[in-house]
Amino acid sequence: MSLRSFPGGIHPDDMKHLSRNRKIEPVPMPEKLIIPMSQHIGAPAKCIVKKGDRVRRGQKIGEAEGFVSVPVHASASGEVTAVGEAMHPFGKMLMSVTIKPDESGDTVEGWGVERPWEELSRDELKTLVREAGIVGLGGATFPTHVKLSPPPDKHINTLVINAAECEPYLTSDYRLMMEKTHELLSGIRILKKILDVEECRIGIESNKKDCFEILEKEIQAQGLAGITPILLEVKYPQGAEIQLIYALTGREVPSGKLPMDAGVVVQNAGTAIAVSEAVERNIPLTERVVTVTGSTVGTPGNYLVPFGTPLKHLLDVARADLEKTGKIIFGGPMMGMAQAFLDVPVIKGTSGVLLQALDETIKDSTYSSCLRCGKCVEICPMWLMPTRFGSLSRTGRFQECEEAGLFDCKECGSCTFVCPSHIPLTHFIKLAKFRVLEEKRRQKS
Ligand code: SF4
Ligand code: SF4
Repeated sequence: MSLRSFPGGIHPDDMKHLSRNRKIEPVPMPEKLIIPMSQHIGAPAKCIVKKGDRVRRGQKIGEAEGFVSVPVHASASGEVTAVGEAMHPFGKMLMSVTIKPDESGDTVEGWGVERPWEELSRDELKTLVREAGIVGLGGATFPTHVKLSPPPDKHINTLVINAAECEPYLTSDYRLMMEKTHELLSGIRILKKILDVEECRIGIESNKKDCFEILEKEIQAQGLAGITPILLEVKYPQGAEIQLIYALTGREVPSGKLPMDAGVVVQNAGTAIAVSEAVERNIPLTERVVTVTGSTVGTPGNYLVPFGTPLKHLLDVARADLEKTGKIIFGGPMMGMAQAFLDVPVIKGTSGVLLQALDETIKDSTYSSCLRCGKCVEICPMWLMPTRFGSLSRTGRFQECEEAGLFDCKECGSCTFVCPSHIPLTHFIKLAKFRVLEEKRRQKS
C-alpha cells in the first residue's frame, strides 16, 4: 500500500516502543492541584473563586474572557487553599488556583448524564464545546470553538483529524484511539455536524497500523459514511497542519493563510474524544492522557492526569530517577519545552513528559560554520531556507529574515536536527521572530 506524505521532512527514531503498549492508567490524586487560568492560546480565564471556597469536580473556577478564551474547571473536589501567581510550564509566574483535593469525589450537577446531541443545533453544540473548556490537545491549545467558527466567506468542506502523532516518544493519542475508538468516532460525527461537512479524513502514521485497522472495522460496523482513515508515511512533521492537509487532500495552504483558506478544519484525535465526552456525557475537560517516557523513567506509560497535578507527583508515580536525569521536557523532543521546576503543573497542552539522561543531554553549545551542504533546505517542510535565516539572524538582520519568509517557519526543529555543523537554526529563527515582533510593537506604540 502506498503511503501518503509531504515533500521534505526527517526520519528521527520514533522511540514509541517505550510506552505504546502501556494502557492508560489514572494517577492517584496528588495532595494539591495548581490550576493555571492560562492553559490555552488567547486571553487567560478570569478567576471566579476565592481562598476558602469549596469546589466540586467540574465546577468552573475560571470564566472565559472574550471569544478567544475558554473557561477552566476544578479537576477535583476540595478546598481552594490559594489564589495567586504560581510557576507555569511556560517558565513564568501566572495566576493559578490551588486546590486541596478531598476524598468525597463530588462532581457538578449533571456530570456524566447522557445527552441526545443529535437533537441540538450547531450553535448549541459549539456552546457546549466552549463551556467544557476544550482546546486543541495536540499541544497547540487553540480554543476549539474558535476553530469551529470559520467566517461566513470561508467554505469548509473537509474535516481533517490529526491522528499522526509524529513527535518521537509520544503515544498518548495512540492509546486514546485504541481504547476510546467509539468516543473518537462520536466526536468526529459531532464535529462534522458543527462544521456542516460531509467529509472527514483521519491521518494516521503507518507505525499505528493496528489503530488504523480497528478504526476501519468500527466505521464499517457502525455504517458511518464520509469518515476515511488514511495511512501516512512515518515522517516528521507529518502531523503539522499544513503538511497533514497536503498529505491527505493534496491541497496547499497559501503562505500566510490558514487551513480554512484551503476549505479544511483540522482537529486532533484527543480533542475529538474530549468533544464527545463534553457533548454526549456532559463532562468538561479536567484531565488528559500524558505519555511519561524516556531513559530515566522506571515505569514509562500513558497516564490519565488531572490538570494541576505537580510534575514531581507524576514523576514519582512513573518512578523517574531524577539523579540520572539531565533534562525534563513537556511535549516531545522536537517541539517540546524544557522545564526548570518540579512544581509546575500538568496543563491542557501537556501531551507528554520526556526525561533525557545526563549523557543524552547536549551540553556543548558550540557549533561550526555553515558547510553549505544544503541539508536544511532539502528537508524544510515549508520550502524555506533555514541556513539563510541562521546567517541573517546571527548578524542581527532580522528585517531581512522577515522578507525571506520568517513567519512561514513552523519551528518544527527539523533543520536543527539535520545540520552537521550543529547550528541551532530553530533557536536563531525564534530569536528573529521575537525581535521582529518586538520592533513592530515598538513602532506601533
Ligand atoms: S524549523 Fe522552520 S525553517 Fe527549520 S525546518 Fe522547520 S519549518 Fe523549516
Ligand atoms: S544544514 Fe547546516 S551546514 Fe548544511 S547548509 Fe544548513 S546550516 Fe549550513
